[in-house]
Amino acid sequence: MAVLHRASWVVPVVSPPIENGGVIIDHGRIIEVDTFENLTSLYAQTIDHGEGILMPGLVNCHTHLELSHCHAEGQYTPAGDMVGWIRELLASRAIDPPELIAAQARKCLEDMYAEGVDLIADIGNDPALTRDHIKGLQVLFFHELLGLSKQAAEFMAKTMASGQSPYTCHAPYSTNKELLLQVKESCREVQQIFPIHTAESRAEVEFLQSGQGDFRRFIEELGGWDNSFTAPGCSPVQYLYDLDLLDNQTLCVHCVQVDDHDLQLLRQTKSRVCLCIGSNEYLGVGFPPVEEMLMAGLRPCLGTDSLASNPVLSMWREMNLIHHYYPNIPASTILNMATRNGALALGCPEYGGLAENQASMIFVKYTGQDPLEYLAFDTAQKHVARWL
Ligand SMILES: [Zn+2]
Repeated sequence: MAVLHRASWVVPVVSPPIENGGVIIDHGRIIEVDTFENLTSLYAQTIDHGEGILMPGLVNCHTHLELSHCHAEGQYTPAGDMVGWIRELLASRAIDPPELIAAQARKCLEDMYAEGVDLIADIGNDPALTRDHIKGLQVLFFHELLGLSKQAAEFMAKTMASGQSPYTCHAPYSTNKELLLQVKESCREVQQIFPIHTAESRAEVEFLQSGQGDFRRFIEELGGWDNSFTAPGCSPVQYLYDLDLLDNQTLCVHCVQVDDHDLQLLRQTKSRVCLCIGSNEYLGVGFPPVEEMLMAGLRPCLGTDSLASNPVLSMWREMNLIHHYYPNIPASTILNMATRNGALALGCPEYGGLAENQASMIFVKYTGQDPLEYLAFDTAQKHVARWL
């Protein structure tokens, strides 16, 4: 039966905020969004939420639940040393037992659910570790493949041939060219999203430019260097473009080290961009040119990345960080990043907006006259209830 929800504000994201608004829901889908006055005569059953905001749930476009046991806070401070951070990460992954990893991943899921996230892209290397579910929280899992040497790439290709997960690749600097091509081709066959870390650190740029630097030394140290990799001598985005890996189902995560030409390539191919500002801040890799991205016509979405590179996994905090580092970006644009842009980037248009046929709604307590600024800028703890 249809129910009319009323609140002092409705923030549909896909249209302007409505004061004293209403949302009609029937069988888990939104039927209509309007002022409460326009809807009230039609529907007898009403839930009045009172002072606060009805809005779509948040969309976290990039995390690694299986790294939830590697807490960033209080440990190693990388200050731009990406390779040092990866070294620490591998060491801690080798120690912790699977039960602890699964329990920490579960805790992260519960925290995200409680703060109003209802759609997540989760990247992992072991599909068996984090298969827990929470009703009402949609988790898209991608099994990440990597390996720069021929041998590693062949092993990963066999993994892909024998498994069933949606697959993706780690990054242009860590994945053999043939494997990149093969995984992207399999994604295209089934119209699947292809998330890939792109242009995160200066070390990555150096490695793709010259085949040298911290990453070269690190791969040699791990015994993974077999001379099969030839540096393309260009930027990470240009490399992906030259391999024909960019399209509207490729989600380039981070995009810190990008110039205007890279942004044009991303725009031209309709590629998606996911920003992880909390992670960039912690790792000290720099910050992406978000205003230039917006000017180039890109519509970035947001991700928390994992607890290994971000002290807190909160989409509210990611919005606050965008506002902190880019104070000229309007609240409505930031809110779009955390909702609608994310839903579209993940190929789930029923999320990220309040409009007919959509299927996601949360309620956030609020008394005031500027709900957009409260949601995107205000660092106060948000009190969230879930409705759809
Ligand atoms: Zn990541």
